Amino acid sequence: MKHDKKNIMVILSSPSGVGKTTITKKIQQKYQSFKLSVSHTTRTPRSNEVDGIDYHFISSEEFKKLIKKNEFYEYAKIFDNFYGTLKKKVDEIIVSSDIIFDIDWQGTKQLSKFNNLNLIKIFLIPDSKDELKKRLINRNQNTSVEIKRRFDSFEEDVKHWNDYDYIIINKNLENCFKQIENIISLEKRKAFTTAQIIQ
Ligand code: 5GP
Repeated sequence: MKHDKKNIMVILSSPSGVGKTTITKKIQQKYQSFKLSVSHTTRTPRSNEVDGIDYHFISSEEFKKLIKKNEFYEYAKIFDNFYGTLKKKVDEIIVSSDIIFDIDWQGTKQLSKFNNLNLIKIFLIPDSKDELKKRLINRNQNTSVEIKRRFDSFEEDVKHWNDYDYIIINKNLENCFKQIENIISLEKRKAFTTAQIIQ
């Protein structure tokens, strides 16, 4: 992949319900340079989701075809649905922008195998399991069965914290965002310096 080495790729992962989507949106609002990697998924859209903006919603058949054609940088089966990141989209964006990925630990592991990507891996965790449960219930996006499944996957998700560069506890949204801003400015500076040395 040919890209401007000054551009960075930030992965945000977390157990479901920690506030990743809100933070991803805040990053995009604050930094014009960041574009979201819009994943493909076989999941049904939620009432507030728009095709092409939140996800590209496709059928299982279409998804399997893309797997066969080796079109994904990474993909994973999560809660019975497939989610994946298309190579073509990422390669287009990184030429001129930074990218933010909202993907799970399985996708992070797969993307990490590509040594030429400027990846910054951030893992968000809740300050307590009780808080997580409250958030999953209060956000009103899932059925009680789905909430239980997402809550139960917490233990498995946090086992993978060690694969990440930064771990942030999201106790307070503003503090959490501030820490992410600090990470971004540090990593942008590093990427800029490295790109100049390579030139
Ligand atoms: P949700 O169904 O709540 O939108 O997402 C469920 C999980 O799938 C989240 O942890 C989210 O980060 C993850 N996810 C979304 N898109 C992708 C993707 O393209 N690849 C991988 N590996 N995970 C994804």
